[in-house]
Amino acid sequence: MRMRMRIGLVAVTVAAALALLLATSVGRPVTHGPRKPGASFKYIANDSHLHLTNYIQEGPPMSSIVPLMGDKIGRAAIFGIPLQQEWSYRSSGSAAPTYYLETDADLYYYSFTDAYIATQYRSLSKVDQARFDPMITGFNPADMYAADHVRRVLETYPGVFVGIGEFSIHKEFVTSKVAGAAPSIGDPALDRLFEFCAEVGLVVLVHCDADTPFPKAGNDPAYFDDLLAMFRRHPKTTFIWAHIGLGRVIRPFPDMGKLIEKMLDDPTLRHVNVDISWTEVAKYLTATPQTPELVASIIEKHPDRFLFGTDEVAPKSQGEYLKVLAMYNPLWDRLPTDVADQVRKRNYERIFDNARVKVRAWEASHRVRSPAPSRTQTLPEPPPTFESTN
Ligand SMILES: [Zn+2]
Repeated sequence: MRMRMRIGLVAVTVAAALALLLATSVGRPVTHGPRKPGASFKYIANDSHLHLTNYIQEGPPMSSIVPLMGDKIGRAAIFGIPLQQEWSYRSSGSAAPTYYLETDADLYYYSFTDAYIATQYRSLSKVDQARFDPMITGFNPADMYAADHVRRVLETYPGVFVGIGEFSIHKEFVTSKVAGAAPSIGDPALDRLFEFCAEVGLVVLVHCDADTPFPKAGNDPAYFDDLLAMFRRHPKTTFIWAHIGLGRVIRPFPDMGKLIEKMLDDPTLRHVNVDISWTEVAKYLTATPQTPELVASIIEKHPDRFLFGTDEVAPKSQGEYLKVLAMYNPLWDRLPTDVADQVRKRNYERIFDNARVKVRAWEASHRVRSPAPSRTQTLPEPPPTFESTN
């Protein structure tokens, strides 16, 4: 009897020690780790771009992403996909599409995605929650009420979200399929949305192709200048420009390196960061033995502006989840360790830690519903355009 009690006691002590170990090492929120360059965490990277669900709103539970992250990925910005692919019997009969390229039927905004992401996040332990930064995506960016949706989600699920996105303004094959009006860079709905994000401290992860899929030779990238003007109109909003404007067929445009450097040098665009997520982007940035060299030289001059991300959609295995990290090996090999560490981890931590603090503070001060965002739209004055001297 006493023996059994002792075994029981030992078991309890071991369990407690294990729990303590888990709480302090394996699942430790990476925010509490060492901050000095070079003395970083054991994780290889943080993931600034992870879709839990796909274009028909299906995906694994958030809890099953934790083992895929394992000891390789510390934290992940996680979101669904704002658009649902309609299964139109008229269009594809009994063949149920699971991807937007499998049917001509519309895509439509699926706001329930935010409730789903919040519910999944809340089902996790505190230790696992600390590894995710959930984002709001279920709004129509062409709707002046988009900001109101974001506010409603924050009020309904306080303590969860830290940003909005990934959502798309111009995206090859996708935004042309959206039911209703396609989003557009100059839309005041975006200005209203970004003003609200600045007020709350929400990070904005935005997909906007730099160019059209089949540009005419000699033309400037179609959306690039307008996009930068949009960023300039919102100097207090923290932006992450997804994929540096590249896509499946949106190839690196002529002088891309120079134009991106000019953007990064521009003091009126200090609040704009870029992510190098997506296997398609990794293909471009490692296309020849010279490309990683060129990309590395740009990153080295602006090491605080680039974020690694996977852009995986509903991953089921660690191999699938992390393949893009390995695709970038030629780039990691060329970057000084400290710079690679910034791109893979520290820029994420700076941006998302900051958002966590600001959004939680905004939520705390808005427990009693304050007036809705203004419905008279006045566009903010853009700061003067910076003319590069080179
Ligand atoms: Zn994405």
